[in-house]
Amino acid sequence: MRPAGAALDRVLQLTKRARLVPAVLVFELPAAALPGLRQAEVLRVFDTDLGASAASAASATSGAGAGAALLRISDARLPIAACDDCTLVLFREPQGDAEHLAIVVGLPDMDQPVPVRLHSACLTGELLGSLRCDCGDQLRLGIAHLAETGGVLLYLAQEGRGTGLANKLRAYRLQDAGLDTIDADRHLGFSADERDFGPAVAMLRHLGISRIRLLTNNPHKIEFLRRAGLEVADRVALPVPMHALNARYVRTKQQRAGHYAHAPGVEPGGAEGPGQAGPAGTAQTVTAPG
Ligand SMILES: [Zn+2]
Repeated sequence: MRPAGAALDRVLQLTKRARLVPAVLVFELPAAALPGLRQAEVLRVFDTDLGASAASAASATSGAGAGAALLRISDARLPIAACDDCTLVLFREPQGDAEHLAIVVGLPDMDQPVPVRLHSACLTGELLGSLRCDCGDQLRLGIAHLAETGGVLLYLAQEGRGTGLANKLRAYRLQDAGLDTIDADRHLGFSADERDFGPAVAMLRHLGISRIRLLTNNPHKIEFLRRAGLEVADRVALPVPMHALNARYVRTKQQRAGHYAHAPGVEPGGAEGPGQAGPAGTAQTVTAPG
């Protein structure tokens, strides 16, 4: 057993892009075996085939990069319950089939910092009203706030904090066996957060937005966007309701991932931040930490 080298890191990236469990069995072959492999029906993958992955990995650390490659595909007006003046703009990653959606709500004032939410897809929370997480509440609260102020919700195709729906269900089984959300993902071979906000940066650039007010309880999003060169003027807290079934998930995010507490009666265990005691169900502006 030895640490994974760069080549194995790429292989693991490939499994993650395919939404597989990142576990691989590796055999090193002597160079003499290469001609035989060329004859055999072996799928060969080169570094250049993983271009998009490499760009994403770079963007995760530098906060920039994936943006240039994202393709703007189509757009249309779409009245929604919270606001009858919405426009959807769809973007697609050049490799793979991931599609991200910018939902422009109302008419944001582009001369001021634009209210923006980066929202990662959560089918179970948004469509089914899952009580395991707070994603559905955060989506509705975010849209309701944007309907009042005008702004943009970036709906990012990174289900399960970037692990995919299949692995999210695997992680739920591990949570039922006693692990918290972060340890369950780690048990499967994932990091605490596999998401890449590079596409969000790209979408904002496409939309001509560089100064924002970020609707979030997650300080890492603020850091990422600032590293990417965006101005995060302030933060709008999203105090979603806590209940018995989502409490462990929300507390884990606060105590182990450093998220700001966002509901009364919750003890923040990680970094304490502003906006931690707002009433549930009402977005509130707080100063973003410098
Ligand atoms: Zn969720």
